[in-house]
Amino acid sequence: MIKTHMDRKDLKVTCNKCKQSGIVSVIKNQDPMLKQKYIIDWSNSKGNNIISFRHRLDDKFGFECICGNSSILARAEKGVITENKPSREDISEVITRLNKEVRTTSNKVDGFTIEEV
Ligand SMILES: [Zn+2]
Repeated sequence: MIKTHMDRKDLKVTCNKCKQSGIVSVIKNQDPMLKQKYIIDWSNSKGNNIISFRHRLDDKFGFECICGNSSILARAEKGVITENKPSREDISEVITRLNKEVRTTSNKVDGFTIEEV
């Protein structure tokens, strides 16, 4: 069961490279004990092309498709964010880069099309 303090969002995620799509269930986490702001509910996700998920520092959702297409890292995060826990300096470097970018509300994010369903 999903607790009431969590917000669920079902997203249709289409890989613009191989054209496969799946429904990905993302839950907004408001439990302060958990560090991640969004988690994916794999049990409620349909289609099997999406194999990885991350909530990026630019506040967009990043995905990885089975075909290898990936938006896990935002452009501003590349070369800074790694598998290791980012340092305070890493995060401020990414924020500096993000502030120089033009913000877009497009549902096309780095090779994926994301629609709420
Ligand atoms: Zn793909």
